[in-house]
Amino acid sequence: MKFYSTNNKDLRVSFKEAVFNSMPLDKGLYMPESIPQLPASFIDNIEQYSLTEIAYEVASALLKDEIPAEDLKALVEEAANFEAPAVPLDENTFVLELFHGPSLAFKDFGARFMSRVMGYYLKDGEQLLDVLVATSGDTGGAVALGFLGVANTRVTILYPKGKVSPIQEQQLTTLGQNIRAIEIDGTFDDCQALVKQAFADEELNQKFRLTSANSINISRLIPQTFYYFNAFAQLKRKGFKEVVFSVPSGNFGNIGAGLLAFKMGLPVKQFIAATNVNDTVPRFLETGVYETKPSVQTYANAMDVGAPSNWVRIMDLFNQDTVALKKVVTSSRFTDEETFAGIKAIDKDFDYIACPHTAIAYLAVEKYRNETGYDGAAVFLSTAHACKFPDIFPAELAAKIEIPASVKELEGRAKQADELGVAFEDFKNWLIHKEAV
Ligand SMILES: *Cc1c(COP(=O)(O)O)cnc(C)c1O
Repeated sequence: MKFYSTNNKDLRVSFKEAVFNSMPLDKGLYMPESIPQLPASFIDNIEQYSLTEIAYEVASALLKDEIPAEDLKALVEEAANFEAPAVPLDENTFVLELFHGPSLAFKDFGARFMSRVMGYYLKDGEQLLDVLVATSGDTGGAVALGFLGVANTRVTILYPKGKVSPIQEQQLTTLGQNIRAIEIDGTFDDCQALVKQAFADEELNQKFRLTSANSINISRLIPQTFYYFNAFAQLKRKGFKEVVFSVPSGNFGNIGAGLLAFKMGLPVKQFIAATNVNDTVPRFLETGVYETKPSVQTYANAMDVGAPSNWVRIMDLFNQDTVALKKVVTSSRFTDEETFAGIKAIDKDFDYIACPHTAIAYLAVEKYRNETGYDGAAVFLSTAHACKFPDIFPAELAAKIEIPASVKELEGRAKQADELGVAFEDFKNWLIHKEAV
């Protein structure tokens, strides 16, 4: 399987090139040159497969001529080494818990797979791979924990000082080994600007082998298809034949992967793109006008995106056919007040504590059911563990959140982070002079 650019379908690059470049020079996004169809014998018997077996089947359909079978199998098993259970809340409503990985967010699926793929391609003696990443919270933790200990790689994370939650900060700053953190006295946008400038800097590019780890990398998209197939397998075991997925969306990588799974043959009745008031996509689906906006801060801050970077992939999957797209994807948006009410309703009705992103996906299911009368199985994706967003919850709910053991373990560790302002020269000097790890 070769990969083309959404801006140039004549371009063909190998998977390896797509992974290390992240983005084609024409600023499109890499997509597989064709969408492989999974055999009916696999889909019809999917309930007999485990998560890693499913992951291997799907990865193999896309990558079998890029990575030899045994290597791909080992890679997938290492990357998808945690569960993604579809937990029933009532007889036909399921919460797909995607937060059982090391950073307690769904981004672990993408980041772990990407780090393993990069580690696989890097040969001993090759120049060290320097991953630079700006984070508003969740991405940095997933990338740091994904690359932790991966040979021939080093990660530098920039995060806005005072603007990530305590658990997020611990995940960024206490790991040591090949992970380095810088707290920037500024905003997430400042962090992102510094990283972008570093990628454009000639001297830094001569000295270091720089790569980004952001969500547009095709190696982050592919593993996110695995849990959609696996969720369907779990529902099939319970006798369901079709499913609606509700996906809390920001950059639309998660739902993009779901739609790729659908195009590969996963039987899905409907996808619901659930957003906060950063509603570029819901507005587009309502009006036909795609108009990006500066992002607005909300409780579901990992979805505070005004210009969703993966949207072009979704349009590409549907050959720019909005009519066909709207048959499969519906959308809705929710305010902070509604999100907060949703968190409380999920607690009251199901005794379940959902993070704000997850609550938005739940609200979208309720709305869809009310509007359509649908009474079949619905799965809403839980993209992060509630403990990562402690400030949102009233005390009586916060008290109910169970802190996972992996988090408690980080609590006692010393913070290792340097502090910098927003001047690029300071960041550049830091990169050049910071002692090697
Ligand atoms: C990143 C993130 C999202 C948004 O996912 P996209 O793939 O960007 O749409 C939603 N929820 C949480 C908790 C996240 O970390």
